[in-house]
Amino acid sequence: LAVHRDPLDLFLADVTELPHDVEIVTGVACAHYSDPFALFPSERPPPAALRPRTAEGVQAIVVAANLRRASLWPISRGENLGYGGAAPASPTSVVLDLSRMNRILALDEADAFCLVEPGVSFTDLFERLKRDQMRLWVSAPGYGLGSLVGNALERGIGTGPAVDHASQVCGLEVVLGNGRMVRTGMGALPGSGMWQRRASGLGPRLDELFMQSSFGVVTKMGLWLMPEPEATAVVEAQFASFAALAGMVDCLAALARRNSALVAVVVSSYLVAAALLSRRSDWGSPRNPLNDATEARIRREFNLGWWCVTLRYFGGDASVDRGVTDGESAMEAMSPIRVDVSRWQSAHSEGCPHRTTPGSAGLANRLWCGELGAHIDFSVALPLAGPAVLRHALRVRAALSEIGLDYHSSFHLRERHVLNVVQILFDRSDPSVCAAVDRVFRWLIAEVATEGLGLYRAPLRFRAEAVAQYSFADHALADVHRSLKNALDPNNVLFLGKD
Ligand code: ADP
Repeated sequence: LAVHRDPLDLFLADVTELPHDVEIVTGVACAHYSDPFALFPSERPPPAALRPRTAEGVQAIVVAANLRRASLWPISRGENLGYGGAAPASPTSVVLDLSRMNRILALDEADAFCLVEPGVSFTDLFERLKRDQMRLWVSAPGYGLGSLVGNALERGIGTGPAVDHASQVCGLEVVLGNGRMVRTGMGALPGSGMWQRRASGLGPRLDELFMQSSFGVVTKMGLWLMPEPEATAVVEAQFASFAALAGMVDCLAALARRNSALVAVVVSSYLVAAALLSRRSDWGSPRNPLNDATEARIRREFNLGWWCVTLRYFGGDASVDRGVTDGESAMEAMSPIRVDVSRWQSAHSEGCPHRTTPGSAGLANRLWCGELGAHIDFSVALPLAGPAVLRHALRVRAALSEIGLDYHSSFHLRERHVLNVVQILFDRSDPSVCAAVDRVFRWLIAEVATEGLGLYRAPLRFRAEAVAQYSFADHALADVHRSLKNALDPNNVLFLGKD
């Protein structure tokens, strides 16, 4: 009598037999791999998780998955909060948890780079640099407990000086969906010391292929770091009026375009700061939108304007000096409520106060809507032009206000565009609020697309809809992605549902 065995059991039995150190997680412990901020939490956690220790272990698991047609959902540390966390898109996927692979494999002070495994967090690298007294800095996002790899692959941004983390990636080791292992760029030269020193080899540069894609599992990543500068400065200015945003963006754009020491320019709504320091219930009924009087009261309480502009300077003494003079007078010319300047020079003191210490502080705002508060992030790339940025701000703010939610928004000005992250903070214990967020998020995706705008990073739940807007020539780009997927992961073992 043939005994029918569940394909998942057969796959897990195969993994047990592998000559590699792989922890297998099953049962209640799988609840760990959920999205703590899910709009509609799934009743079923993933059926299992695999925790390999080495790249060879990852490769063996992917090969086994191909033989059994199992479905794997790779994560690095699973802290992708606001975009889906650790939870797979499909309830049948087994999580491939790489957090035990947490070695810093190379750290080069002179050439300012590292080579890390997926489990290395921003905090891990920061602590290591401090411990070894290396004069290297790492740019970190607001929440630093996630991994360097997961964040860069998802095109995360940080406080700088290298704001855009994906742009600093130099060389990947990847296990493709078909089970082959590749090293990109100069890493394909056996024994090459060039892997993290030059981003391309001979031929196309493939690092990008593994960002926000579903073609492979990254098992090693090279990342350029920043040599500690001679000087840094931060100029912070508060502006009273919401409508001033357009003029501010145009003025800041001019500044950013002509000053190389100005490495990060961020404009954030006052609630970004206020939500770290208080809760919505401190100010009024959680069900109603904040009215003008309450908004003014919050700003008064924390001595904030409607917008806070933060200019970060980084470089040689003279160029930072020039930059700050420029920046300060540009801010003064826009009639701020207040301008604060803080400077640091390495020649005069150790321990730069402007160096970001990665940690969990940025997560404090999740409690804005109460103990079961959460956020989901609406992240759009905009032109570097004041009127377009103001129009977008008005649109998103109005849409959120209609469902009783507040506008927590940051604009990161880059050389030619602006990245806007709106953290939609909500109470996930209220199903009607969750349904409203779901509806508004979809509406916003469609709405910005009418202006030729799109999301640059999307929560997993809305990913397919956001990707579908990139539809030129009858979705030709999606067809290319599909061809690549078929070539590199023919049995579709990786990232089921991450279309
Ligand atoms: P973090 O480590 O910052 O918490 P996650 O582990 O949650 O980030 O990863 C975020 C997303 O990035 C995952 O859902 C997955 O799509 C992708 N990802 C993360 N790690 C890898 C990896 N090693 N290889 C390929 N894709 C990855």
